[in-house]
Amino acid sequence: MTQLPIQMTVALANDETPASLCSRNALLVGRTARDFCRDAGFTFQNVVDGTPSALEALADRCRANVDLLAATAAVKVAERRYMIGEQILVRESLSRKTLRVCPRCLSQDIESGRGPERTRPYGRLLWQIEPIRTCREHGIALVAVSNDDHPHRVHDFAMLVQSSLSDIHRLASEAPRRRWSPLEDHLAGRLKNPGYGEALWLSTLPFYAAAKACEILGAVAAAVSASSRTPSPMRIGMRPGRSGMTSLQRERQASGAC
Ligand SMILES: [Zn+2]
Repeated sequence: MTQLPIQMTVALANDETPASLCSRNALLVGRTARDFCRDAGFTFQNVVDGTPSALEALADRCRANVDLLAATAAVKVAERRYMIGEQILVRESLSRKTLRVCPRCLSQDIESGRGPERTRPYGRLLWQIEPIRTCREHGIALVAVSNDDHPHRVHDFAMLVQSSLSDIHRLASEAPRRRWSPLEDHLAGRLKNPGYGEALWLSTLPFYAAAKACEILGAVAAAVSASSRTPSPMRIGMRPGRSGMTSLQRERQASGAC
């Protein structure tokens, strides 16, 4: 594999996904992510699916650390089944078609990143985790900026995000305030540190089941606790993970379970 000259690459950013790195490097040299990969003898789909040989080829081509790259890969291990590190996810655990971002993070990327401005915004791993809907750093809701699932464009982060960059300050100011929830903290912690929350019984469930359990229990808790008024489906849809996790914690404390 021929390495690109360093001035023709962008560096891997903190918690950046392999697809995002690939996409930004492609944009830098005026290619789509799919064409960029095809030129070098591997496929973008294999990068998206975390295939080890594709990650190695991408890391080599773009002068990135392959171990860091692999750490943020959602590796497809079977039909509709993925692993991130030691965590098992299903297709529904991932936001793949809808591109969600924190507009304030992207603004920061543009202000402080290196290289051509259009290549600076990058995609974070946590934005791909469906039950995570908040930027912890900025305390705002993630915003969907693209639903483009055309086979020639889907997952091509840098290409898909371009149309929203001219509007990024408005998106940042209009994004609803939102608190980082206990559920999001639990899931993000498990992805970062495999032993995270080991004492919490929820950690004994597979990642996808923990996420789904909190969603369902949160919706039930919201409906029951609001028995004096009709619960809004929108509110339930927006907060089940948070209320479900909080309910689980209260139940656990009350029962003294470990
Ligand atoms: Zn942010």
